Amino acid sequence: MKFTPYWLDTSTPGPDRSTTELGGHVDVAVVGAGLTGLSAALHLARKGANVHVLERDTVAFGASGRNGGMATTGLSIGFRDAIARYGFPTASALFLSYNDAIDSIEKLVGEEGIDCDFARTGKMTLAAKSGHYDGLRKTHEVLAERLGYETQMVPKDEMRSEIASEHYHGAMVDPKGAGLHVGKFTRGLGEAAARQGAVVHEKAPVEQVRRLGGTKHELVTPRGTLRADQVLIATSGYTSRPFRWQQVRIAPVGSFIIVTEPLGKEVCDQLIPNRRMASDTKNLLYYFRITPDHRLLFGGRARFAMSNPQSDEKSGRILQKAMVSVFPQLAAARVDYCWGGLVDMSMDRMVHAGQHDGLYYSLGYSGHGVQMATYMGKQMAEYMNGAEDANPWRDLTFKRIPGHFGPPWFLPFAGAFYKALDVVK
Ligand SMILES: Cc1cc2nc3c(=O)[nH]c(=O)nc-3n(C[C@H](O)[C@H](O)[C@H](O)COP(=O)(O)OP(=O)(O)OC[C@H]3O[C@@H](n4cnc5c(N)ncnc54)[C@H](O)[C@@H]3O)c2cc1C
Repeated sequence: MKFTPYWLDTSTPGPDRSTTELGGHVDVAVVGAGLTGLSAALHLARKGANVHVLERDTVAFGASGRNGGMATTGLSIGFRDAIARYGFPTASALFLSYNDAIDSIEKLVGEEGIDCDFARTGKMTLAAKSGHYDGLRKTHEVLAERLGYETQMVPKDEMRSEIASEHYHGAMVDPKGAGLHVGKFTRGLGEAAARQGAVVHEKAPVEQVRRLGGTKHELVTPRGTLRADQVLIATSGYTSRPFRWQQVRIAPVGSFIIVTEPLGKEVCDQLIPNRRMASDTKNLLYYFRITPDHRLLFGGRARFAMSNPQSDEKSGRILQKAMVSVFPQLAAARVDYCWGGLVDMSMDRMVHAGQHDGLYYSLGYSGHGVQMATYMGKQMAEYMNGAEDANPWRDLTFKRIPGHFGPPWFLPFAGAFYKALDVVK
């Protein structure tokens, strides 16, 4: 079994960018070479800005190279919860921004010729309990009646048309969701940004930040010091000390994925015939899909622990059990890959983007970042250029996580809490 993300193992890295010349003065420095940072760099460079990206590790090292590859519709919280919290006009604008985000990936893939298996196969939300199916139906009705937004309900006795499993109590399908190969996409975005003139520095961790006035900062890395007129923090669940204000507002939660051996097209045609991107309705949810080369990718928050090789291996074993509970026919399937990554959860499970103390930031995608991080890179390029309303999240207050002072000691407690909720709800 390999402990590298399948997506990185099956895509080609760009050239080594760990010995680039780093220093001087630039228009914009972007911290983090994931989807947010690379999309922002590409769009800023298209506008003619001199942009440098500083990445602690390598392009796609973070969540962007470790996720499920699902660019799906909808907020991290349910639409009806969003209406209760923010009122209908705000909730619907935020909900629909995820569709704009998927469209923007499709557009970028075409414009930049990024070959990444992008396909609109749809999203399927699976009811983990019978009561959850009623909740999905209510959401389906509210979406149709108030927003004119079409989804399809699949009752339990028709589930065989969508999934070869007895595990779920029905589903809601949104045909607009998409899947893609995120290794090819994130690395392709890095190459596209470089073609537009952005400079990407790998092995360049930002260790200190000094404000020079307004939005001007000096960023210190072991490879050199860069001064920039504007700085964008795009570090998601990997945000650390130099960006303390953002760090204590984000809980980095470990999420884990396994990928089976190639199962062949025929088996996959039975498992998930329409190739939907699937996730269930639990708080500690499972999510799964078929990969472009006919394997099953199966993910979940297997353990509430930070990702590291030991915890990834344990999580792999837990996930394999979970996969077999959903698909007993895969009991003998070999698991070829297992890895973990950090999800950047915010207190309210909403994205937070804006400027604080002269530093721009966009983070808190709360598990829905493939589409939104890519989109926010583009929107932040506009926002940093003076277009305030380009940032759909500008009115939300970014709350500190109580008791979070740095290393997240609270994860096991958060895990126990969500597990308990899944038992009672
Ligand atoms: C296991 C898993 C499954 C997921 N599945 C899905 C999914 O199917 N669909 C979906 O929509 N979302 C999913 N997500 C969420 C999604 O992957 C993220 O929201 C998104 O990739 C965030 O992109 P980003 O560019 O903001 O951050 P990242 O891709 O995490 O990049 C941040 C980068 O910042 C770098 N960095 C941090 N600190 C510094 C520093 N001081 N100096 C320099 N560099 C620094 C890190 O090394 C890292 O490369 C998943 C996440 C995980 C972990």
